[in-house]
Amino acid sequence: MSQENLVGIMGWPVSHSLSPKMHNFAFKKLSLNDWRYVFLPVKPENIKDAIFGLRALGFRGANVTVPHKEAVLPFLNLSQDAEEIGAVNTIHIIDDKMFGHNTDAFGLVNDFLDHGIDPKGLDVSILGAGGSAKAIAYGLLSKGAKLTIFNRTLSKAEAIEKSLSQRFSSVKAKVLEPGVNSFKADLIINATSLGLINSDQSPCPNATFNKNQVVYDIIYGKKTALLEQAANDGAKTMDGLGMLIHQGALAFKIWTGVDAPVELMKEALEKK
Ligand code: NAP
Repeated sequence: MSQENLVGIMGWPVSHSLSPKMHNFAFKKLSLNDWRYVFLPVKPENIKDAIFGLRALGFRGANVTVPHKEAVLPFLNLSQDAEEIGAVNTIHIIDDKMFGHNTDAFGLVNDFLDHGIDPKGLDVSILGAGGSAKAIAYGLLSKGAKLTIFNRTLSKAEAIEKSLSQRFSSVKAKVLEPGVNSFKADLIINATSLGLINSDQSPCPNATFNKNQVVYDIIYGKKTALLEQAANDGAKTMDGLGMLIHQGALAFKIWTGVDAPVELMKEALEKK
C-alpha cells in the first residue's frame, strides 16, 4: 500500500474542530484518496516534541490552533505573512523542511471577496487585539483597508498598531469602551472571544448599526448577541464560518497543490 499523505489539526482542546470534516470531505470529492486529515490533541508543554514528531511521522503538514499559534514559531521557516503577524496556523513539510504560514489573514479577506465586498478603501473597525485580530488586521491592510483596532486593554491594540504601522500607514488603536454607541465604519469585525462561551454577551451592547454597515463576527456556529443586535438595526451580518472555510482552502492548496473546492467545503460544514 502506498504511504498516506497525512495532515491534521494541532490544538488543546481540539475535539470541537470542524476542520477534519471539511478537509476529509474535500479529499474524498476530489478523489485524493491517499490524503487524510486527523485530530492532533497536543498539550502546551508538549508542543516542541509534537512539531518534530510530525516530521518524524512523515506528515505533510498541519493546521495549528489555540493555544499553539505563537509557540510553534521558533521551530519553523516562516513565510513573510507569518513572520509579520507573529503567528502560524498552517505548517507545510517538504523534504524534511518545516514551513510556517498564516492563512487566517487572507481567509477573512477571501470571505469578504466571495460576498462581493472589496476591502480596498473601506473604513474597518476591528474589536479585539488578540492573535486573530492581528492576522485579520494584516490581511485587510494588505488589501488597502483603513483600520481602527478597538480593544478593552488599549496597550494590546497599540502594540498591533506599532508593529503594523512599520509597513502600513492607515492603522490606529483605540480603547473599546463598553458603552460605545456607534462605529464610524463600513465594516465592523468582532475578533474578541466574547460571545464564544457567552453568546448572549456583546462587546458593545449599547452600539447601534445602520443598513450601510456590514457586521462580521469571527465566531462561528452560533448567532451571537452582536449579530442579533446588528441584524435588528438593519445591518448586513456575517458569521465566521466563511473565514474558517477560506483559511482551510488556502491551507489545502499549500499542502496538495490543488485548488480547494470551496463550495464542497461549505457543503461539508452545512451537513449536520
Ligand atoms: P485571544 O488571542 O485570546 O484574544 C481575545 C480577545 O478578546 C482580546 O482582545 C480580549 O481583550 C478580548 N476579550 C475577551 N473578553 C472580553 C470582554 N469581556 N470584553 C471585551 N473584550 C474581551 O483570542 P483569539 O485567538 O484572537 O480568538 C478570538 C476569537 O476568534 C475566538 O472566539 C476564536 O474562536 C475565533 N476564531 C475564529 C476563526 C475562524 O476561522 N472563524 C479563526 C480563529 C479564531 P483583552 O486584550 O482586553 O483581554
